[in-house]
Amino acid sequence: MSKILFFYSLTNPAASSGECARCSIQEIEILRIRKGKRKLNKFDLLVIGGGPAAITIAKSIQDKMKVGIIRPEDHSMIYCAMPYAIEGLLSFEKTLKKDAVVTDEKAELIRDKVIKVNFDAKTVETEESGEIAYGKLVIATGASPVMPPIEGHKLKGVMTFKTEEDLKEIIELVDNGLGKAVIVGAGAIGIELAQALNERKVETHLVDMEEYVLPNMVDYEIAEEIQASLIKSGINLHLKNKVTALKGTEEVEGVLLENMQIIHFNQLDDCSKGDDNKLSGLVVFAVGMRPSVELFKDTDLQIERDGIVINNKMETNLKDVYAIGDCCQFTSGITGEVLSGKLATNAVPMGRILANNLLGKEDRVYPGFFNGAATKINNYFIGGTGLSEKAARKFFDVEVGYAEFTTAFPIMPSAKKVRLKLIADKKTHKIVGGQLVSGEPVADQVDKITMAIQYGITLEQLVNFSYASQPYQSFYPAHNLIVKAAEEILNKFTHPDND
Ligand SMILES: Cc1cc2nc3c(=O)[nH]c(=O)nc-3n(C[C@H](O)[C@H](O)[C@H](O)COP(=O)(O)OP(=O)(O)OC[C@H]3O[C@@H](n4cnc5c(N)ncnc54)[C@H](O)[C@@H]3O)c2cc1C
Repeated sequence: MSKILFFYSLTNPAASSGECARCSIQEIEILRIRKGKRKLNKFDLLVIGGGPAAITIAKSIQDKMKVGIIRPEDHSMIYCAMPYAIEGLLSFEKTLKKDAVVTDEKAELIRDKVIKVNFDAKTVETEESGEIAYGKLVIATGASPVMPPIEGHKLKGVMTFKTEEDLKEIIELVDNGLGKAVIVGAGAIGIELAQALNERKVETHLVDMEEYVLPNMVDYEIAEEIQASLIKSGINLHLKNKVTALKGTEEVEGVLLENMQIIHFNQLDDCSKGDDNKLSGLVVFAVGMRPSVELFKDTDLQIERDGIVINNKMETNLKDVYAIGDCCQFTSGITGEVLSGKLATNAVPMGRILANNLLGKEDRVYPGFFNGAATKINNYFIGGTGLSEKAARKFFDVEVGYAEFTTAFPIMPSAKKVRLKLIADKKTHKIVGGQLVSGEPVADQVDKITMAIQYGITLEQLVNFSYASQPYQSFYPAHNLIVKAAEEILNKFTHPDND
């Protein structure tokens, strides 16, 4: 009986979608325990992974091919929202995607883990359901957070931050009175997590070996103000410093920094010791992502340091095998160099390009990634795109310009300060980077600058940029941020002494 239900749940999208299909999912669990193996249908397109890249394939292909999506987790996650569930702005459940995002698109969702791929036979082997055959295979296995192999990294209370279980564990610890936390890595994920813990009244330390926060997104003069605001909000910043060891016997009791400072965690009382929900302290590493490609270790699939090697059509070196998202090695659309920043805003367009090409629509090619990203720190919104000045100087002779206005007419009560830095190549006058910090969201402005970079717009074109103005939504018609910063750079070219 359970076997029939298992088959039914795999072949009937309604049965494997969302909460209404709980019984079917329980049957799958029963079968998992029995470890029954059966040969499943062949899929036209089999996708390994259940993250944004895989979901994009399901949404874009719909019923035009027979699509199977294999993912082991109970839920796909809205990763970007995870810190806000810790902070208490959202419920934990809100961070879970419904299976219907896949099954409503007519793809079959297979809750399982691929343990082997046979590229010659065009089959994958899974932990529970045995072999599955494919016509074309899409690898969308994502990336896993890096845990540096330093002394004590296996102690209880030391973790990374990506999965549903990670989120659950941190929420539980905080709900049970976690006193102190050390977050390692002051990129967007580390900062968002640190802020969430700080808001929940956990004594929070943020450690990074760089000189300032968000070093991959912005330059110091844009980070400066928000860095001060992090300190003012009570977060203990340890910059130009590294975690060198984690001390403790079973659970982490302290964190040793390179400058020999030790962040001690308070000891638990005897009643609390051994309680899984209680820890004297928590250490979370948010120091980068590594492509999840172990599965293909002994195969002919071409893999380099930053992931599976693909061309601009998402094709791998193997016939009928494609790769998209964080598991891939991808390049900068500006310099062509390999970029390691893994973002959903790269994974999703990769999925869209591949789906488009598989459906034989117009030929689309991947232009590279332009690195647009944004975050929010206390009351500041901050974002960057392209290359920071520091990164750009490795490739170009650059000039920078700034503009500072308000987000509305300064006479309006809602007006907040906004500051832009624009970076241009002196030789071609093309924009290579831009960064903003503001009291209002900046993602749209970041995207505007990305468009300028992506389509090779020059400073001369930008100063003639035609813009809109309205008291609630912009500065006075006399000025526009991007135009002003572009003018400043051109002025520096004409009057280099004013630089
Ligand atoms: C806390 C956090 C916040 C973030 N915030 C942002 C943000 O604000 N903006 C942004 O653009 N990006 C953000 N990101 C990054 C973004 O989430 C990733 O870039 C994105 O999820 C990549 O999508 P993907 O589909 O390539 O991989 P993933 O989302 O990692 O999905 C990979 C899938 O493959 C599955 N898989 C792996 N191995 C196997 C196997 N052997 N068999 C079957 N399935 C397998 C995994 O279980 C998973 O379902 C954030 C990430 C985190 C962790």
